[in-house]
Amino acid sequence: MNKYLTLLQSKIYLAGLFITKEDSQSYAIISPLNQNKIALAANSTINDVDIAISQAQIAFDAWKNLSSLERAEYLLNISDYMLKNKDELGHLLHLEQGKSVPEAIGEILYSSSYFKWFAHQAQSLHGETLNSPCINKQMYTIKQPIGVCAAITPFNFPSAMLARKLAPALAAGCSMIIKPASDTPFSALVYGIIADEINLPKGLISILPADQENSINIGKRICESETVRKLSFTGSSHTGKILMSQCAGNIKRLSLELGGNAPFIVTKCANVQTAIDDAIKNKFRNSGQTCVCANRFFIHKDILHEFTDKIKQEIEILNITQPISPLINFKAIEKVDKLVKNALNKGAKLELGGNIQHNLYYQRTLLTNVDKTMDIYHQEIFGPVISIMSYENIKDAVKQANDTPYGLAAYVYTENINEINYFTRNLEYGMLGINNAAFSSPAFPFGGIKQSGFGKEGSIYGLEDYTITKAICLADGEA
Ligand code: ADP
Repeated sequence: MNKYLTLLQSKIYLAGLFITKEDSQSYAIISPLNQNKIALAANSTINDVDIAISQAQIAFDAWKNLSSLERAEYLLNISDYMLKNKDELGHLLHLEQGKSVPEAIGEILYSSSYFKWFAHQAQSLHGETLNSPCINKQMYTIKQPIGVCAAITPFNFPSAMLARKLAPALAAGCSMIIKPASDTPFSALVYGIIADEINLPKGLISILPADQENSINIGKRICESETVRKLSFTGSSHTGKILMSQCAGNIKRLSLELGGNAPFIVTKCANVQTAIDDAIKNKFRNSGQTCVCANRFFIHKDILHEFTDKIKQEIEILNITQPISPLINFKAIEKVDKLVKNALNKGAKLELGGNIQHNLYYQRTLLTNVDKTMDIYHQEIFGPVISIMSYENIKDAVKQANDTPYGLAAYVYTENINEINYFTRNLEYGMLGINNAAFSSPAFPFGGIKQSGFGKEGSIYGLEDYTITKAICLADGEA
């Protein structure tokens, strides 16, 4: 058994202590790899949430008074621990989430990079001296940590989505309560082991796993708490809307990173081979379970056949060299299968795949002739399916690309600067990849618009989201 699993089964991490729950208060975690039960996960209670929140408030009062340099030391130690233990941490992630071992280790390295990056950024967080219109009044701002924060995280990047929230929260001077996705609690709970290893002050973080039903109660308690000043959520737009309404009662600050419906546009002026290579990496990473996965491929009509033939060949090669990883659970695979069947019934052409391989493994699938009458055009697929349609001109491409309530990520492939300018101005998305489809980095302000949410994660904006800006007006006395 993975060394971390042995330590974490049936545990919650409550204010610096690992607490074991009875079997009756636990639920089974089934590995998507082979349907084997890997361990029991503890089900946290409302009482646990209340303790976590009150302890987080106490810890916050001390943590906020450390210098940013002192806080940075802790963050660097977290980053180092992750680097040193990347193989075991990656293996744990692979077991519970199902992504391949190299991808899982890659995620641990990515998580580690958030702690390192924010350790440095925290030291350059500063207010401003303002140009006061009154000569006898000085005006300036200071940045202060917002307070106790909460994070609700998804299953697809169970380590990195947490790192992207926890690192800036700690760097800014906040404490945090974490509710990981029900299917993947252990890659979150392991941060408790790391916290103990590096002597993070007790109470600063609590990690409260819960099954799906209980997650609803825990989420509600967090939202309704007046002590929790900010909630950062990554997950579906449906859940985001519920949380937003629950937070309305106390006007809690929110950042919501929700669903997407990313267009991937390839024009006549593109390097088609680069577009294909990137499309494959972007789409099949984590079996398509990424919120910035390309969802709708818009290919210019003059290069449609070239693009389709080549990408088909590349997928066939990939099928031989690299087995697909599983989807997270049966609900997920049923959804993907239903979307594909709906598209085929409405006239899409099946070029490759189109079926469940076995258990939670879905074949890499290529569909052409997709159009807006099909559900796959409108819904986030979250599976290894490429759905292709063609367009006449770039105005038409932008119109179709924007034809969705979502606005997370969009990708454009063209080497024509006028086209680049046109797409940059007109695509209604929070993030654009131009001639690349992998922009995630701690330096990049990650986040969407429209029903994909609001607030940025990563970058200096991601740090500022954990702060308040206090404005000060200081009158001069008699000299
Ligand atoms: P996904 O499709 O990625 O599973 P969800 O929005 O269902 O997206 O889940 C994302 C996170 O939100 C998970 O941690 C899940 O347990 C949690 N969650 C789901 N529904 C609720 C809810 N009603 N209240 C609070 N948390 C929820």
